[in-house]
Amino acid sequence: MSSTRVLVLNSGSSSLKYQLLDMADSARLAVGLVERIGEETSRLKHTPLTGDGAERERTGPIADHEAALKAVAAELAADGLGLDSPELAAIGHRVVHGGLKFTEPTVIDDAVLAEIERLVPVAPLHNPANITGIRTARALRPDLPQVAVFDTAFHTTMPEAAARYAIDVATADQHRVRRYGFHGTSHAYVSRTTAELLGKAPEDVNVIVLHLGNGASASAVRGGRCVDTSMGLTPLEGLVMGTRSGDLDPAVIFHLARVGGLSIDEIDTLLNKKSGLIGLCGDNDMREIRRRVDEGDEQARLAFDIYIHRLKKYIGAYYAVLGRVDAIAFTAGVGENAAPVRAAAVAGLEELGLAVDGELNAVRGDEPRLISPGYARVKVAVVPTDEELEIASQTYALVGRHEERLRRMGN
Ligand code: ADP
Repeated sequence: MSSTRVLVLNSGSSSLKYQLLDMADSARLAVGLVERIGEETSRLKHTPLTGDGAERERTGPIADHEAALKAVAAELAADGLGLDSPELAAIGHRVVHGGLKFTEPTVIDDAVLAEIERLVPVAPLHNPANITGIRTARALRPDLPQVAVFDTAFHTTMPEAAARYAIDVATADQHRVRRYGFHGTSHAYVSRTTAELLGKAPEDVNVIVLHLGNGASASAVRGGRCVDTSMGLTPLEGLVMGTRSGDLDPAVIFHLARVGGLSIDEIDTLLNKKSGLIGLCGDNDMREIRRRVDEGDEQARLAFDIYIHRLKKYIGAYYAVLGRVDAIAFTAGVGENAAPVRAAAVAGLEELGLAVDGELNAVRGDEPRLISPGYARVKVAVVPTDEELEIASQTYALVGRHEERLRRMGN
């Protein structure tokens, strides 16, 4: 029996999201998530996509990630998709921070795990949860190849001029302070899919990708390689996000500490959790913000305008970085669904060859599509992102190559 299934795991500090895919035809066999791990009110939602596909939900305490993964394994087994199946080829893990070392998906062994642990100081909120997920999955299936797919990997091609902050080099290097970028799996998938949509090879296309979810980032992709991105040392830099401020004068932090009397932890929470759209107007869901704008709510209007102003600045900046732009691609929750955001971000940029067709922009859909008028020199695209499929594809391709290498070494 051939092994073509890949389980994709995305471990957060108190959650575990998963998808089981069959790479023979890229079909999803099951999806689900465990939330509030470690609390009394943990919840597992599991949807098998074979058979009748009815969602199942369990509530009740799930103590830790090990218990969570075991509960997921039991749900999958109940659908005949158990983790002990010979059809399972590998487990692919989303790992947020791969530093400079991990430029590609990597088969996990003890040394790789140690290196991911070494990166915890630069990703204290994310890497520990990813490490827990990896350890748990390895304990459950020690014989199975496990692959780490890094959020930072796609951005490791950024030139030093884009990746370095203009601060003292020795201090920066000592503390590994530089711009790493995140959402890389999405930027890679969306830039490649945009090239396909234009009927061109990725090497021949320059794309600005706008990943606008609750977290948001922009990237400039030249010929399939990332040359700049808006997130930096952490996912706080860049665009206005649901709850994060994005760019600000770093002296705001000194001011809030010295004059405002806030602690570093309070400022951290302020900028990461209480800023962005929610800080500006009390809502971080673009649907709600648009509803308020349409009702004439001034605070929501200002939040929307600040969001769009920043987005436009990045489009202009990355246009200049790339020199020639073939397409701009909108993706993630806001980018895929919020037609007013897409229209406003591109409005007034006709001189740059950019325009959105109102009717095409209003059409909803799950497929990659163009929303620019035929005459537009720079195409505007909506490309639904699929990070799980990308992680599964990269994992499957790597495991195939890995096994081929092992076979050759054995001969
Ligand atoms: P993340 O993965 O960063 O949590 P998503 O990419 O799922 O986020 O995006 C979530 C956001 O997408 C929501 O907070 C909301 O603002 C926005 N969103 C989702 N659906 C719509 C919609 N129909 N119209 C406008 N915005 C939407």
